[in-house]
Amino acid sequence: MQDKVIESYFKKERDRQNNGIELIASENYPSMDVREAQASIFGSKYAEGYSGHRYYGGCENIDAVEDLAEQRAERLFDCRYANVQTHSGSQANFAAYIALLEKGDKVLSLFLNDGGHLTHGSPVSFSSHDYSFSHYPLGGDGRLDYKGIEERLDEVNPNLFLAGYSAYPYEIDFKRMREIIDKHNSHSSTHCDFMVDMAHIAGIVAARLCQNPCDYADIVTSTTHKTLRGPRGGLILTNREDLIRKIKSAVFPYSQGGPLEHVIAAKAICFAEALHPEFKEYVARLMENTKACADELSRLGCDSSGSENHLFLLNVLSSFGISGKEAQSKLEEVGITTNKNMIHGDTLSPALTSGIRIGFAASTTRGCTKIDAIKIARLIYRTLKCEDKEKIKEEVKEIVSRWKDVDTLSFPVLTD
Ligand SMILES: *Cc1c(COP(=O)(O)O)cnc(C)c1O
Repeated sequence: MQDKVIESYFKKERDRQNNGIELIASENYPSMDVREAQASIFGSKYAEGYSGHRYYGGCENIDAVEDLAEQRAERLFDCRYANVQTHSGSQANFAAYIALLEKGDKVLSLFLNDGGHLTHGSPVSFSSHDYSFSHYPLGGDGRLDYKGIEERLDEVNPNLFLAGYSAYPYEIDFKRMREIIDKHNSHSSTHCDFMVDMAHIAGIVAARLCQNPCDYADIVTSTTHKTLRGPRGGLILTNREDLIRKIKSAVFPYSQGGPLEHVIAAKAICFAEALHPEFKEYVARLMENTKACADELSRLGCDSSGSENHLFLLNVLSSFGISGKEAQSKLEEVGITTNKNMIHGDTLSPALTSGIRIGFAASTTRGCTKIDAIKIARLIYRTLKCEDKEKIKEEVKEIVSRWKDVDTLSFPVLTD
């Protein structure tokens, strides 16, 4: 590379990623194939519009790849229609709202402090400016309260009910939500649609290790870079023909110009990787590792949420008497990366928080085993108890020395 300055930061970042234990629940390491596609010649092509209806000439190869990306996404999620053009999960949500709602319409989503996303009605997001958000809380046990949701639906009479979260460690009963919404619609004058933002759990859905929201929701949005292990990007799915037409125009031309065709090629590869049986084994290991770490922390006497997916929450205030911010920085000092996170009933501010969020998508990709996950729980415990930092650092190094290099990952694909 001619630019030695930027190159030096790539090298430093590669070392940082290889030398640490990455436990940020929204991160993952894609294959070299996915990364190569993102640096490919497809990035040079303007292709505004959709396959067969582009605003520019010379799109025959782009069309073929975008068609494949859509078909593979449809097969992977067992869904009739996919749109693969959104640049990110937030833009997928923006387009989904445009397709489903009029300005000022009412949306019912989870309280952000309970694990919702910024685009689910945060005051600092476009979503709260364009639509009128109301929220439903989690139950006292930190789990979804389906009876409470039923009551909130009747109180609010929203145009849209939104599920899918950024920091929820338990299974979600999409089937039950559909039934609750249908029941509500049978006696409400306002029709309520059902949207699921599966950004975090898309890999688990693809592996069929939880309910598939596409079977129940009117629109499903996602990212492709979290548990799905693809390039950074968005995805929108629906079974409704009337909605896919609205979704397409909400993406282009309403909210985006030229699609990132190099990223769409990378998404096509990611879907083919996720269709391979080996991906299901990866997700099963990921869930097992997460549960093992969460349970070990409980066994050590900590206030851990436990886990039924790829992440869990650790209440560090009640377990160690420190804030999430402090816990995050103590762990970072020994080479374990996590993030501070609000927990249900949090008494501290979002800048401090009482918890941290821990996930195993990235570390499992590198080869983390269940034994490693249990060791990591003990390292987290000892770090937050302020035990010998230098010794813990050595043990972190020993664990990651047995894992794969993030610059060499390769996964089998199912392309037929
Ligand atoms: C990560 C996430 C998003 C947004 O994804 P970006 O690609 O960062 O815009 C949207 N919704 C949920 C629930 C998420 O966790």
